[in-house]
Amino acid sequence: MTGNDILYLVIPCYNEEAVLPETARQLLEKMDSLIERNMISKESKIMFVNDGSKDRTWELIEELHGSNPIYSGVKLSRNKGHQNALLAGLMTAKEKADMTISLDADLQDDIHVIDQMVEKYYTGNDVVYGVRSARKTDTFFKKFTAQSFYKMMQAMGVDIVYNHADYRLMSRRALEGLEEFKEVNLFLRGIVPLIGYPSDVVTYERHERFAGESKYPLKKMLSFATDGITSFSIKPIRMITVCGFLIFIMSILMLLYSLAVHFTGHTIHGWTSMIVSIWAIGGLQLLAIGVVGEYIGKIYLETKERPKFIIEKILDEKV
Ligand code: UDP
Ligand code: MG
Repeated sequence: MTGNDILYLVIPCYNEEAVLPETARQLLEKMDSLIERNMISKESKIMFVNDGSKDRTWELIEELHGSNPIYSGVKLSRNKGHQNALLAGLMTAKEKADMTISLDADLQDDIHVIDQMVEKYYTGNDVVYGVRSARKTDTFFKKFTAQSFYKMMQAMGVDIVYNHADYRLMSRRALEGLEEFKEVNLFLRGIVPLIGYPSDVVTYERHERFAGESKYPLKKMLSFATDGITSFSIKPIRMITVCGFLIFIMSILMLLYSLAVHFTGHTIHGWTSMIVSIWAIGGLQLLAIGVVGEYIGKIYLETKERPKFIIEKILDEKV
């Protein structure tokens, strides 16, 4: 399938000086081959979003842009995290591109499925999800945490594509839909399926990071998972409510039981059972307050209506 639509690759980068030159080289090769085969327009670009890196990432992006205008750059005013950096890039690209593909700077996602993604775009799909077929190269820990995450999200009733990270093609129309989601607690994987429009899936094998280290330590992964759940699901609150209801029923039964014991004269009670129940109820209450607090925190942030990102500079000219 051929066409002349403009493709923008959007790549969030946080301290990626070790991988950037090689990534840029491989992506350029890919873009050149797509242009040669008349699959995309010559005005297509490779857009790097610098997410407040502390190393030479932005200087490298500037150099790349100087060497070839196919490389474009967006610089955020500070580190805002992967999801916000990605959104900043997508919203900037939306003004010029007919389709965008978001991918990580470390090229762990196989860039050769870009061809299939573009083909599926031309056959009428607005969203094409890249799905990992195998995680052979991931460590056991990464695999375990990532898969538990997908399972938990599904159990919580959040509609996400299993084993899909943020490697996906989106048409301009889909991006315009995305723009309508005004929430501050951003979890793109959960929002994109809510946009609708025809979509398809391509599968690929995930590679190892060829240089540098993961920018997602356990702390960031956990906050990402909590965000994902609490931004989309109120099941935790429901569970607490159900729990509270069951405990209330049980306490009525206990009351009847202790009254019966009292009137039959066996009034000597164990100290242990009392202490245990005090602790149990106390713990449950704290847990409940914690979960409720989590949501109040979200409301608090939403009411502030903070901007999700501020762009400091854009490097992008027509070729
Ligand atoms: N990233 C970012 N901001 C951050 C953390 C990560 O823009 O605060 C980018 C990072 O540069 C990379 C992508 O998000 O392009 C995915 O990060 P990484 O490869 O470290 O995650 P992993 O593959 O280990 O899950
Ligand atoms: Mg990675």
